[in-house]
Amino acid sequence: MASLTNRYDTAPLSHGNTRLRRQIITHTPLVLAWAHSPWPSLELEYTAIENGEKNHIRASPLANFRKTLNNADLSRFRWYFQFAAFGLLVYGGYLAINIGDQLPTFACIFADKRGGSCYLMGFQHQMATPFASMFTGRGIGILVGLATFFGFFILFNKAWCGFVCPLGTVQDWLTGLRRRCSIRYSTYSERAFKRLSTIKYFLLALLILIPMGMGNSFFGLPKLNHDFGIPFCMICPGRTVLPLFTGDFSQLAIDFSSKTKMVFTSLGMIITGIFFAGAFVKKRFFCLFCPMSAFHFIFSKASLLRLNKNGAKCTRCGNCYRACDVGIRAIADDLTNKNIVKDDCMMCLKCVEVCPEEGCLEAAFLGVPVYQSTQDGFFKRREKKHGK
Ligand code: SF4
Ligand code: SF4
Ligand code: SF4
Repeated sequence: MASLTNRYDTAPLSHGNTRLRRQIITHTPLVLAWAHSPWPSLELEYTAIENGEKNHIRASPLANFRKTLNNADLSRFRWYFQFAAFGLLVYGGYLAINIGDQLPTFACIFADKRGGSCYLMGFQHQMATPFASMFTGRGIGILVGLATFFGFFILFNKAWCGFVCPLGTVQDWLTGLRRRCSIRYSTYSERAFKRLSTIKYFLLALLILIPMGMGNSFFGLPKLNHDFGIPFCMICPGRTVLPLFTGDFSQLAIDFSSKTKMVFTSLGMIITGIFFAGAFVKKRFFCLFCPMSAFHFIFSKASLLRLNKNGAKCTRCGNCYRACDVGIRAIADDLTNKNIVKDDCMMCLKCVEVCPEEGCLEAAFLGVPVYQSTQDGFFKRREKKHGK
């Protein structure tokens, strides 16, 4: 773009029925700011007069903004965002911050200084409510909690996993540690992992059915005793791992107060060990078995934030599959579905970053693209990565 040092005039602007009259504008910085701002979707055409020479220029503020976004180094932004979210959710309590207990991420209620927490503990307590009480004032409280939880799902769905969940962030940090220590991942069968990852639906079912069995009797069987308490929390690595970041080691223990608690908390210790060891076997290892991820996926079709693919533009180069931390092959293979979110996806958008085809992959909110694959963005990121 020519530098606008002198005065210049604008040609008619049009956007739908909007037409602005040709006018002489002498306030250069103001128009420049407008031309480069995300503000209007109008296209601005003007003639810049520089050293007596006229240059016809077309600028679209919205297109400029989109281009800047599409060229962005999203992985770096994501790293900072995760870091900030981790600080907020694990240490927010030190600043009296509380963004609620209905979050669709593993920000654990057992971390004393949390700034917000995972809904699963509240959900398990609520599922233990006898059916008869569901139709009282208590039922309304439960519905409000559920509605808030589902509201979060519908707004950002899997992006909670990719950008916010502290337990997901810890796994990404462990991946970084593995890389620094030059430890290679072990080899494994993708198909076996795919089968194993269905465990998350089984865990989700138990997380609902066990508490229900504590509050209600089914088929004339006695109710489960209250030692089952919050069964998933007893085995969740979020309970043991996240308090460690505030120096609290008290959750790394087996509860011997009853046989049930002993079994569950022992399982919790084993799962914590697998959580750490698994991070050296596969990226985001625990996420493959996470019941929250299963919950997210069930509601992903209603989500306002989507990962879309235009199969006609895909060359099946496989870049997206190679970049995907959770190894979703369909992101490269599927040429027919538009909404490409799969159950293990965490909406990290790494696939969009590495796709070299214009508009082939995109994250869209309410149907409006917010981050798209472009050739320009692809080459810019590649140059940056390789220091050219
Ligand atoms: S799938 Fe991973 S990132 Fe998502 S809630 Fe579970 S632990 Fe967190
Ligand atoms: S990176 Fe883009 S073009 Fe390549 S396989 Fe994936 S979606 Fe298709
Ligand atoms: S499919 Fe794309 S957005 Fe989903 S986890 Fe893989 S790289 Fe991330």
